[in-house]
Amino acid sequence: MNAMTQETKRTLIYIALAFAFSIALRMIWFYQFSGYEPFYHNAQFMINTNDGYYFAEGARDLLSGVHQENDLSALESAASQLTAFFAFILPFSFESIILFMPVVLSSLIVIPIILIAKNLDNLEMGFIAALLASVTHSYYNRTMIGYYDTDMLNIVLPMFLLWSIIWAIRTNEDKYLLITALDILVYRWWYPQSYSLEFAFFGLILFYALVWDRKNLYNYKLLAIMMFAMVGLEGYIRALLVLGAFFIFTKEKFDRYIYYILGVSIVLFFISGGFNPIWSQLKGYVFKDAVTAADTGLKLHFYSVMQTVREAGHIPFETFANRISGHVVTFVLSVGGFIYLAYKHRVMLFALPLIGLGFLAYVGGLRFTIYAVPVLAFGVAFLIVQSAQFMPTPRLKFLAPLLLTLLALVPNITHIQNYKVPTVFQADEVKVLEKLHAEAKREDYVVAWWDYGYPIRYYSDVKTLIDGGKHSGDVNFPVSFMLTNPQDVAAKMARLDVEYTEKTFAFVKENKERIKDKNLIIFSNIEQMTKEYGFNDTNDFLLSLQTEVELPKKTRDIYFYLPMRMMDIYPTVEMFSNIDLMSGEMKKRSFFYVTKSFKQEGNNINLDQGVVFDLQNTIVSIGNQKVPVKRFVQTAYDKNNKLTKSIQMANPAGDVNVVYMSNYNTFLVLDEKAYNSLYIQLAVLEEYDKMLFEEVLLTPQAKVYKLKI
Ligand code: MN
Repeated sequence: MNAMTQETKRTLIYIALAFAFSIALRMIWFYQFSGYEPFYHNAQFMINTNDGYYFAEGARDLLSGVHQENDLSALESAASQLTAFFAFILPFSFESIILFMPVVLSSLIVIPIILIAKNLDNLEMGFIAALLASVTHSYYNRTMIGYYDTDMLNIVLPMFLLWSIIWAIRTNEDKYLLITALDILVYRWWYPQSYSLEFAFFGLILFYALVWDRKNLYNYKLLAIMMFAMVGLEGYIRALLVLGAFFIFTKEKFDRYIYYILGVSIVLFFISGGFNPIWSQLKGYVFKDAVTAADTGLKLHFYSVMQTVREAGHIPFETFANRISGHVVTFVLSVGGFIYLAYKHRVMLFALPLIGLGFLAYVGGLRFTIYAVPVLAFGVAFLIVQSAQFMPTPRLKFLAPLLLTLLALVPNITHIQNYKVPTVFQADEVKVLEKLHAEAKREDYVVAWWDYGYPIRYYSDVKTLIDGGKHSGDVNFPVSFMLTNPQDVAAKMARLDVEYTEKTFAFVKENKERIKDKNLIIFSNIEQMTKEYGFNDTNDFLLSLQTEVELPKKTRDIYFYLPMRMMDIYPTVEMFSNIDLMSGEMKKRSFFYVTKSFKQEGNNINLDQGVVFDLQNTIVSIGNQKVPVKRFVQTAYDKNNKLTKSIQMANPAGDVNVVYMSNYNTFLVLDEKAYNSLYIQLAVLEEYDKMLFEEVLLTPQAKVYKLKI
């Protein structure tokens, strides 16, 4: 008894120490930027992940109790619900809660790690693994302070699941049946895509039971209760099923029905559609090319986001290893150590689904690496603890593991010190959005590129056309068109796209059943417009926007949010509408060159990258091509932050325009199309058509206009 409490005490101390360590290292960023005003809002740091604003918007609306229909607010998401709960019960500001939630929640990872090690009677291994896992590259990057996203629990929850599975298999105690099932319920609530990992754990336990432990009824109880937690029904029904199963499983007299109950759970799993997500995912992998779009309508070709996301097909081994273990050497030792550990303690093989998912990163993208972090941390920690055995003196038996642990930690700590990610927005930009919030109604739309969608909705509480989750080629097309085309057609497209978006929401709501039965296809807004304006060719429809067209009835106001930071992504923004939707052919890209690196050399200004502006002859040479300059424009802000500009017409027949934005220390070289785009005219030159737009807020960081039509 005494030894038992001693061990419990040690376990708690290790958990407390590792937890404090994980928190402390996550505070490095906090102190590095302490006092840096542009990162603050409401006296607290802002978050540094774009998607976080999605959950923040949902939590804000849950707390206020109101939201607007079709505002895409994340009321249903677990992260929003948990945030709202914390904000409700805790005495901290909302900003502080979303900033620190990842710090605290992700540090919980040390608990299952240490508890698993406790089961293997190797607490020191657990302590070392917990220190390592909590701060290793990819785990840190995705759970650092301000990285307010589901990642903060995405590894913690499956690690708890692994812990309860290991303890269930090792002890056959009833309580682990319930804990395992409850963990699945919570994990599924938190992260609906968790089914693949849960299913992998289930398969592994089934395999184990059938091959090594066939006569043990407990295994089938575990499988059945896991299956009940995974069936394709509402969470509360699954919870009731789990509780019912647990009640039966604790009564010995029902033991002879176990196989039937397991059978029922499996049948229920299939008929309730529990397998569907797994099946569709498998189909996606196996029949990748066979998936074709519906063979109806105009068959428009849209530019896909996937084409712009440069998710490297092949990740260098060093990056992969660094992200999982902090260093290539640690990684190799971790893999070897894990094999050795699994050889000594077979039960560790239940961690294979996590390693498997982590190694998927090699083909599926870097974001998967975090799954392998805690499990492989056991590997190197096991070797470190084992090293003590070879030490001759007690002192060395203590010092050697300590030194080796520090060595394994160093690359990760260095990484944290150098990982100075900025906040998503800067204080001045948020000021603009807050003023917009005061001006715009909640049903109004704000047009902006999808990168700014979630933050705009969070700070301004308006609607957006595209955001971090809604940015497929067909919804990006109209927004890209608005930003990169002349004001008159852009204005018309804005009214059209907003009204068609709302119209489609209403249509989908009315026809829910038919859409579910696949009797009804929802066409893209642009396709609907084309047809309803009497065209069979989208290009003809787009051309018709240059004429007088009758626009849909205005149901709300539309604002344009044009941040200066969009300058860097303008060429990408343009891609999405620079495509012939009928044929899928990309059109010639605008010439759009932006630079902050330039220097005067006599009569020339060297604009870097082989671009030289000849002031005397007003010619720009690009490589060995000489292009006459049509306009030379200089902009500056006066002391009241009002934009002043001088436009010098050089060669009326010129092909490019040079814009010197003196306060931004930036030169632009633009062809006519880019120069005449809404973005350049409204954001850079404040040259807006007063029939179409009115100014709302014009600051050096971002400009907001209101559409008048
Ligand atoms: Mn709203």
